[in-house]
Amino acid sequence: MTKRNTKAKQLILDSLKNTKSAVSQEILQKELGEEVDRATIYRVLNSFCDDGIVHKILSDDGKYYFAFCINCSGKQHKHNHFHFRCLECGKIECLPNEMDVKLPLGYKSVNFNGFISGYCANCS
Ligand SMILES: [Zn+2]
Ligand SMILES: [Zn+2]
Ligand SMILES: [Zn+2]
Repeated sequence: MTKRNTKAKQLILDSLKNTKSAVSQEILQKELGEEVDRATIYRVLNSFCDDGIVHKILSDDGKYYFAFCINCSGKQHKHNHFHFRCLECGKIECLPNEMDVKLPLGYKSVNFNGFISGYCANCS
């Protein structure tokens, strides 16, 4: 890991912390400006996913967003929660409730991808 990468990691971590909602690569790029290039942002985000720090959300606008993990470590990601996209302010959030979806006998879930769009508390 080079020094430049470490700095990029720190910058991206800070801006994820400051934003209370999920961010896309585009949003991060805008926030970080020239300081970190596109490829680095991509690489750092994916390495955070591998480390169990953030998880990837496929939004209903077709873009990926990244949000902090709460109870994850290493490869053991566990996010049985819905994601909410506000149609007014565009914010994407992790909803705090863990979902327990009953599957038919013999089925085993690996990935949960729940998505809701609507209006957040500030906008409704
Ligand atoms: Zn996770
Ligand atoms: Zn809103
Ligand atoms: Zn989430």
